[in-house]
Amino acid sequence: MNYWQKDIETMDRDSLDKLQVERLKKTIAQAANSPFYKKRFAEKGITPDSIQSLEDLKKLPFTTKDDLRNNYPFGLAAIPLKECVRLHSSSGTTGNPTVVLHSAKDLEEWANQVARCMYMVGLRDTDVFQNTSGYGMFTGGLGFQYGAEKLGALTVPAAAGNSKRQIKFIKDFGTTCLHIIPSYASRLAEIMYEEGIDPKRDTQLKTICIGAEPHSEEQRLRIEQLLGVKAYNCFGMSEMNGPGVAFECQEQKGLHIWEDYVIVELVNPETLEPVAEGETGELVLTTINREAMPLIRYRTRDLTSLIPGACACGRTHKRITRFKGRSDDMIILKGVNLFPIQIETILMQFPELGGNYLITLETIKNSDEMLIEVELSDLFTDDYSVLQRLTKTITRQLKDELLLTPRLKLVAKGSLPVQEGKAVRVKDLRKLN
Ligand SMILES: [Zn+2]
Repeated sequence: MNYWQKDIETMDRDSLDKLQVERLKKTIAQAANSPFYKKRFAEKGITPDSIQSLEDLKKLPFTTKDDLRNNYPFGLAAIPLKECVRLHSSSGTTGNPTVVLHSAKDLEEWANQVARCMYMVGLRDTDVFQNTSGYGMFTGGLGFQYGAEKLGALTVPAAAGNSKRQIKFIKDFGTTCLHIIPSYASRLAEIMYEEGIDPKRDTQLKTICIGAEPHSEEQRLRIEQLLGVKAYNCFGMSEMNGPGVAFECQEQKGLHIWEDYVIVELVNPETLEPVAEGETGELVLTTINREAMPLIRYRTRDLTSLIPGACACGRTHKRITRFKGRSDDMIILKGVNLFPIQIETILMQFPELGGNYLITLETIKNSDEMLIEVELSDLFTDDYSVLQRLTKTITRQLKDELLLTPRLKLVAKGSLPVQEGKAVRVKDLRKLN
């Protein structure tokens, strides 16, 4: 089946704007059916007629994760529950989780978005797609499943964990594409090599879709080399359905966001004013093609920037850079703001290092310090003076990037905890004052 939806994907800016205004007006009328937006729109005097152009978007109030939590479970439902066919709920560590409701049409549109993304990276109905995501509430499971089925690929819903079984499936079923978390892709490649399997020679893998975890360009290149594949960055969040919100094309120069589904804004997280093109800001999305639970100006907490100019692939939908992390992931140490991804970017440039690392923040003698432990790759020496030299070189580069000096410890391969799920990269043991 052909999921190159050319008319939509290459639509000129004026037509896209027009389509967005039209759908936004409809969305406001739809959202007003929910108790939450009904009240909020009434307070601000908002009706579909408030929107004449995209400029008017800024009249609309933001929606936050707390709004979803405070109106748990069904306060944002814009259609009767009997017309909803599925709900996804996030794992809330504290308080209420978030709930997202879907109608049958919403699920259909979501599958279409994902199928479009998969087609964009070159997948076809002849592909064998193995999904290593957890199924169930985590949207990376069912989200990719329905998208891949819509595309017509042969799907292998392997779900998370059990690396040996994953590898057996990859070999036996001729898997050509994996959806996988980047840290687990590195781990799976390592296990293959340990088992004497060369993924380039012994498997049909050619494409992987990596997401759910911020990762650096260096980590992507490493995964591509280890597995002999092209790795494409995908972004999803359950509030925006799940996977399919933004996806790289084969140019690998940023992720396209489907603007017939959402309106993209980037704002300064403090002032909430729009940032200039190319500047980093918080991604704010408005759904314009959802029935059960439209979200208006939803603050994603993800920090990214818009890429100016046209993409060589011909698609006109806006592109964003890979995520710099969530505003919640930001580490503040000694007054310096930094993201784990900055550290990873440095570490991954050293072939002497493996893919597994752990950042620990701790209080030592009333001072907050950062310890970075990173595993060596198995190709590397245990010569003490060589290791010492390497430690010095890496520390210097980290210092240049972070503007503070972390303690760096190179540890033997396999000595840091192994994670088959989303990797925990930061442990914060600091005493609060
Ligand atoms: Zn493109």
